Amino acid sequence: MLNLLKSRLQLVLETFLTGPGSYGTFTYRIKKTETNKCSRCDKEDDPDHVFYVCPRWAEERRALKEMVTTIPETTDIIAYIIEDESKLKTIFDYVVQIMRRKPEERRWREKEDNKH
Ligand SMILES: [Zn+2]
Repeated sequence: MLNLLKSRLQLVLETFLTGPGSYGTFTYRIKKTETNKCSRCDKEDDPDHVFYVCPRWAEERRALKEMVTTIPETTDIIAYIIEDESKLKTIFDYVVQIMRRKPEERRWREKEDNKH
């Protein structure tokens, strides 16, 4: 794979895994939201929650598990995909789906909450 593309994908993954973005733990810290809880399941919303636990992404996670036998720990992912480039795109696709939809869903939830 082209090195430039590879380093871009790594950058996106690192951004996802280190937290800034639409995680409750982050948006709460910068006072963008009133809670650090997941808008879907009311657990603490951080990268680990989203990546491994949240039922919102169960379907996407199931598809990922079919492609890679084990989903690595978030702290190991960068090493994992460098070791095996064929897994890079698979994990990247999973992460991108979440990154695209998560902020939209949070905004939708906020609108709903404001109605009540
Ligand atoms: Zn959740």
